[in-house]
Amino acid sequence: MTLHVAIIGSGPAGYYTAEALTKDRDDVQVDIIDRLPTPYGLIRGGVAPDHQSIKGVYKRYEKTNLQDTVRFVGNIEIGDALSVAELGQLYDAVVLATGAGRDRPLGIPGADKKGVIGSAAFVGWYNAHPDFAGLDPDLDVEAVAVIGNGNVAIDVARVLAKTPDEMAVSDLARYAAERIQSSPIRDIHMFGRRGPVQANFTPKELGELGELKECVALVEGAQLPDAAGDAELPPVKRKNLGHLRQFAERDRGARKLGLYLTFYARPVEVLGGERVEGLRLERTTVDEAGLCHGTNETFDIACGLVIPCIGYRTQAIPGVAFDNDRGRFINDDGLIAPGLYCTGWARRGPTGTIGTNRSDGIEIAEAVLANAAPGGKPGRQGLDRLMKERDLWPVTFRDWQKIEAAEQAAAQGDAPRRKFSSIDEMLKILKPPAI
Ligand code: NAP
Repeated sequence: MTLHVAIIGSGPAGYYTAEALTKDRDDVQVDIIDRLPTPYGLIRGGVAPDHQSIKGVYKRYEKTNLQDTVRFVGNIEIGDALSVAELGQLYDAVVLATGAGRDRPLGIPGADKKGVIGSAAFVGWYNAHPDFAGLDPDLDVEAVAVIGNGNVAIDVARVLAKTPDEMAVSDLARYAAERIQSSPIRDIHMFGRRGPVQANFTPKELGELGELKECVALVEGAQLPDAAGDAELPPVKRKNLGHLRQFAERDRGARKLGLYLTFYARPVEVLGGERVEGLRLERTTVDEAGLCHGTNETFDIACGLVIPCIGYRTQAIPGVAFDNDRGRFINDDGLIAPGLYCTGWARRGPTGTIGTNRSDGIEIAEAVLANAAPGGKPGRQGLDRLMKERDLWPVTFRDWQKIEAAEQAAAQGDAPRRKFSSIDEMLKILKPPAI
């Protein structure tokens, strides 16, 4: 008998789980359901548009999708129209791989001012994600504050700082390219609430900031530890410090843009009227355990845009136990309830590389295969029946390939594709049915 599994979410965690579930087996059928007509989740909507080599991992997911045992069902939102409980009636197991697509709140006075835009929204905007394509950020500002010392903060700063030439081989949304290129931004400030050793950057990403054409990355040497202590640090930290020490030796010169990395500074208030006019920060110290403490000493910077890159939350799904404080599903090693699992960022929070989701996917697939037994459930036939009854129009993998071909055909110059940014635009090229 066939084991029927539904995976909700077609990002890396979903695909790695599908890959592990169907490896060397033809008695497992997997439907990967996504609310967007496009697969690959974070690879398409989160990975930076100029990091095309990282995005190349989608080819592996494509292979998984070309197996008979795996099916992509796009344009179907699981929630109110079709519930998780209903999927539980149709499939022997349901796995939530919905990622973490919403911003963790900054939670300081003034954080609701116009011009404070979290990285989920800002990155989604420049990546043509349909949820954020209408964001319309005002980039008519001279200074930007990027909050956080992770790779997302680096992505955001780099995308704002690169020249059109540097962005040529990218799938940056056309409207975002126009807005960024005509922006008068001159100063990008990046703030870390802890020190350079505690920063979450990876060396390759940090090093890229040192290679920008018109932007110079700068840091005050006094904020960096003495090189004598490097031997005790892990290689990743040593390499980061190596890059930062190079940044400390530079000056801005005649460069159009300056990227200022400031450590030991946490935001305490967004300043201004209705719109952002500045940011107040408190200087911090970091104790031996790596915890940060305020010093009561504050300083202000002028800026017209604040982009908190401070981590993400999973979106709750009606009927599924959710930990609102941590922003993810309540689960015990991936198990939410009998027959209901979660994997990837929806399981463990928004950390790790794309590859981390592979081990996660393998683990959850093993748990599903060990615990779920084929129960004669209808699986994909049942889903097809229900979608028809409710007039829901699924986008197949073949349909997606048509969307992809249209995006590739519309690309200009060295760009790999010109992305559609609205679901309607995508569906219009698929016939029938016409919408
Ligand atoms: P992250 O690595 O967790 O960094 C979040 C940053 O925000 C940290 O510096 C954190 O400081 C800071 N922060 C959190 N709350 C704050 C607050 N209230 N005020 C001030 N600062 C605050 O997260 P991320 O950058 O969103 O990245 C998520 C994951 O995706 C990471 O694993 C990252 O490596 C990965 N990623 C990888 C790439 C790549 O490989 N190219 C690109 C993008 C993302 P503390 O450390 O003090 O908490």
